[in-house]
Amino acid sequence: MKCHYIYTEDGLKVLIPGCWSVVMSGDIRDCTCRDETFAAFESERYNKTVKALRKQVKDLEQENIQQNRIIKNLLKKLRKKQ
Ligand SMILES: [Zn+2]
Repeated sequence: MKCHYIYTEDGLKVLIPGCWSVVMSGDIRDCTCRDETFAAFESERYNKTVKALRKQVKDLEQENIQQNRIIKNLLKKLRKKQ
C-alpha cells in the first residue's frame, strides 16, 4: 500500500509509510511508492507510448521538411538546365 494518512479517533493525522524513503524521513513528499493498480500501470505505459509516438511524428515532420527542401532545390537545378 502507498504512503497515506489515517485519522485517529482523537482526530490526529497519522502518517502510514509504504516505502522506506518515508519511513526514514517521515515526510510524505519523499514518497517513492508506485501506483500498483493495473489501470495506473497501463496509464503510465500509455503515456510513455504516446510521448514516444509524438516525438516520432515530430522527427518525421522535420525530415519531411528537409526532403521537400532537397526536392525543391533539385527541381530548380533541373529547370536551369533546360
Ligand atoms: Zn511511499
